[in-house]
Amino acid sequence: MWKDQPYWNPVLETLPHEKIRDLQFRKFKNIFEWGYEKSKFHHTLYEKAGITPEDIRSFDDIRRIPTVEKSMMRDIQRIHPFPYGDALCVPLDEVVEFRQTSGTTGQPVYQPDTWQDWEWWSECWSYILWAQGYRPSDRVFIPFGYNVFVAFWAGHYAAEKIGAEIVPGGVLDTQSRILKIQELQCTAMMATPTYVLGMADTARKMGIDPSSLTVRKITCAGEPGASIPTTKKRMEEAWAAKVYDHAGATEIGAWCFECTAQSGGLHVNEAFFLVEIQDVETGEYIEEPGRRGKMIITALDRQAQPCIRFDSKDIIEWAPEPCSCGRTFRLINGGVIGRADDITKVKGVLLSPSAIEEVVRGLDGLGNEFEVIVDKEGDIDRITLKVEIIKGREGERKQIEANLKDQLRLKTNLGYILEFHDHGTLPRYDVKAKRFKDLRKH
Ligand SMILES: [Zn+2]
Repeated sequence: MWKDQPYWNPVLETLPHEKIRDLQFRKFKNIFEWGYEKSKFHHTLYEKAGITPEDIRSFDDIRRIPTVEKSMMRDIQRIHPFPYGDALCVPLDEVVEFRQTSGTTGQPVYQPDTWQDWEWWSECWSYILWAQGYRPSDRVFIPFGYNVFVAFWAGHYAAEKIGAEIVPGGVLDTQSRILKIQELQCTAMMATPTYVLGMADTARKMGIDPSSLTVRKITCAGEPGASIPTTKKRMEEAWAAKVYDHAGATEIGAWCFECTAQSGGLHVNEAFFLVEIQDVETGEYIEEPGRRGKMIITALDRQAQPCIRFDSKDIIEWAPEPCSCGRTFRLINGGVIGRADDITKVKGVLLSPSAIEEVVRGLDGLGNEFEVIVDKEGDIDRITLKVEIIKGREGERKQIEANLKDQLRLKTNLGYILEFHDHGTLPRYDVKAKRFKDLRKH
């Protein structure tokens, strides 16, 4: 039975690596030529660099092509053809979907998609869902405000495509969502890690143990939490469910996913995307596992507003071993480790917010919420970490504080000012959490 097969696309997902590389190269040439011919923005960029489609004869040639950054897209938008501007490769009449980036790092970027692109989005997500064990027998609850952000829209259509049943959670509040999951005995859910944990808290306040509900698979996105072992464990224990990560972006697409083997990494969908990793300091390209760099990514099939060598600023590294699931798509170790913009130096040491999250969520006695503030006292960097003590554990504060200090020093090599707050008093976030504040930049 097709439903019993482990892969959504048994041919592409098990293709030997050399064949995947051939496929990527052929597709890359096509999309590069497409951008060169159809988009004024891309044409001008490549002309200035002196590169034409005929010059692309090997992977080394690809690396000579200029990268595109989000800020460049911002600059060319809001003009004719309105609102997308010169990167648009199709007549406006062929655009059927509008989405925009969240704008957390500046003015949002608009993203048009044709019907074919939108089909491609749901195909990418079908790989994700199938790999995470979604099948036609699933009833999938999606607790997200369907709006201009792409978030779980394509997950919605992919769940339909693979034959599962969708329950759109739309504008319902958290309590109503929990009651709907209970009433309909939903088996799977898609949400951000922050919301998955917040929902569990709300359920408990309503007298419902989330693990007594029937959700057994949760697909996360939007934050690194589902790839941070301690956060993943908290979510899995709260819901008695398997929690899987995936990463995607409005301008890119859904480019990688965790599978049921939970090997500690995410598979890059290499049939649809070309991922290159570049050393942030030297600009050198990294092929070997275990060395971090920023991701340059190409969506090999997306047409309306192509994503060709996009400088994503996501920090990733290749995993040393292939996954036990049999997929030949390469794994990135630990998911998206951070953003080139977020990983800042404090007292000369590289600090990644997800390392702090891993420590806080791994300590017994602390709540899920925390806040990190970096500022200066005179000329010296200072980090304040605010955490919550779980109700009933206040008496153990000294011990918890000592453990927290030890773990932070071990995992981040830095000292902190620790502030303990009552449970439920730090800010809560429904969508993307903003727990890290670097006040030195202002
Ligand atoms: Zn796998």
